[in-house]
Amino acid sequence: MLTDYHLHLRPDDLGASAEEHFTEDNVERYLAAAEEHGIAELGVSEHIHRFTQALDVWRHPFWEEQAVDDLDAYCEFVGTTPLRLGIEADFIPGAEDRIANLLEAHPFDYVVGSVHFVGDVAVDHEGYDAWRSNGDPDAVWRRYFETLAEAARSGLYDILAHPDLVKVWGSGRPVPQGDLRFYYEPAVEAIAESGIAVEVSTAGLRKPVGEIYPSPALAEMCVEAGAEFCLSSDAHTPDQVGFAYERAIEFLSDLGVERICVFEGRERRLEPLEGVRVDGA
Ligand SMILES: [Zn+2]
Ligand SMILES: [Zn+2]
Repeated sequence: MLTDYHLHLRPDDLGASAEEHFTEDNVERYLAAAEEHGIAELGVSEHIHRFTQALDVWRHPFWEEQAVDDLDAYCEFVGTTPLRLGIEADFIPGAEDRIANLLEAHPFDYVVGSVHFVGDVAVDHEGYDAWRSNGDPDAVWRRYFETLAEAARSGLYDILAHPDLVKVWGSGRPVPQGDLRFYYEPAVEAIAESGIAVEVSTAGLRKPVGEIYPSPALAEMCVEAGAEFCLSSDAHTPDQVGFAYERAIEFLSDLGVERICVFEGRERRLEPLEGVRVDGA
């Protein structure tokens, strides 16, 4: 089986409205793309910060600007489609109870946990650039993976999204010297302890870094720690569904991973990973 669980029905800009994108026609486009790629399980995981309810969790200026839609309406709409219902929810240290309350109040099939922010600055957002306020790559990477470890341990999430997002800019931001496994270590320990599924995301291939999340070294450590994986594209448009899946399947096969996680009603099961169907074959 192939899955694509971490996807968005619209681009990240505020102009991409719920009215225009949470529609039957748009979902049809995503389903058609999934079918083309042989993806049997398709789920949507909109950013939590695009919903007004997220302001009960965090009042960062970026969230205040972005939170315009209604989370209940989103859940209701997805319930009328064949899509699995997910959400991409940032881990905000100290807000665990508020995040749990919000998640428990909705009928999600799975919850994708993300770390984009370390404190008030983000590793992947130029407007709140983590490197501008503290350019030391050692500090940013250390803090990022420590926050990721906390996210895994929080028990709030089923899937740990783009696990080394901190590398997103590639050579566009400073990267620590030496063996990066030193930074991965606390996160891998937390992944092993929590049993959270690790996302293999092809989104990194579309970003300056040009590499799948996680890096091969981090993925190997996760395998050694006994982690299970799930597979996603982090698509924001229908043409990105199943993006570069042949690369991801090869990546997982090389690691010896034979099964991927499938979710329903926040229950997880493992299904055999299927070889990708190549277009026109
Ligand atoms: Zn994300
Ligand atoms: Zn995403």
